[in-house]
Amino acid sequence: MALLEIRDLTVRYGEIEAVRGISFSVEAGEVVTLLGSNGAGKSTTLKTISGLVKPAGGEVLFEGQSLLGLKPEEIVRRGVAHVPEGRRVFPGLTVRENIMLGASNRKGLSTRQIKDEAEGMFELFPDIRRFGDALGWTLSGGQLQMVALARGLMAKPRILLLDEPSLGLAPVIVQAVFAIIAEVRRRGTTVLLVEQNARMGLSVADRGYVLETGQLVLSGAPQDLWANDDIRAAYLGGR
Ligand code: ATP
Repeated sequence: MALLEIRDLTVRYGEIEAVRGISFSVEAGEVVTLLGSNGAGKSTTLKTISGLVKPAGGEVLFEGQSLLGLKPEEIVRRGVAHVPEGRRVFPGLTVRENIMLGASNRKGLSTRQIKDEAEGMFELFPDIRRFGDALGWTLSGGQLQMVALARGLMAKPRILLLDEPSLGLAPVIVQAVFAIIAEVRRRGTTVLLVEQNARMGLSVADRGYVLETGQLVLSGAPQDLWANDDIRAAYLGGR
């Protein structure tokens, strides 16, 4: 059984059909990347999995059970954490407090345990350690992405849904973020990654899917997707 299975998913915003009957799956331990240009429906797909958007049709199965109709908090508790696009970080909290928030849906943890786990996150993200307890921090885009990733990991998810982690970052920072994604996977967390940066998105993936105007038009191993010239020109931007 796949860890996550999407069956014939359709999502509408009023008249707009953002996702049109897509089906795909993610096996435990995999990194699967959803590629596609702006507006293809990638973010909508992640939002539907995490319960932020209600689909018009189809099914979302996690460990064989439907997630449809569950509240986002309950979906997090089941083991699905979503790191949305835009790296929302609360400016009135310290970096450590922002990271600790990620554990808020886990039951029976003491503040001490949460603090210790947040401390452990600084080993994975040493670049943000120095901001840990300061208020009034100013973080770069890459550092904000790291705080958002650390917060997502604090939920101890079985699957991490990552929306465009490379967006707006300098190439060297993109490399650092993707090295962390590879490490997260090495530690046993399954990842569903949404990316416009096809080269990076495929570099960490076991499999990729290409989404175009709400429909899956292609799927395959990263090297096969990357080897296809037409695909590269049309969907992958040749980057
Ligand atoms: P991007 O990378 O730009 O976020 P995407 O592939 O993630 O692109 P979505 O954000 O899922 O695409 O958007 C898919 C379609 O749904 C687009 O046409 C978009 O304009 C539309 N859409 C997204 N969110 C809403 C909303 N809240 N209300 C109405 N339309 C929306």
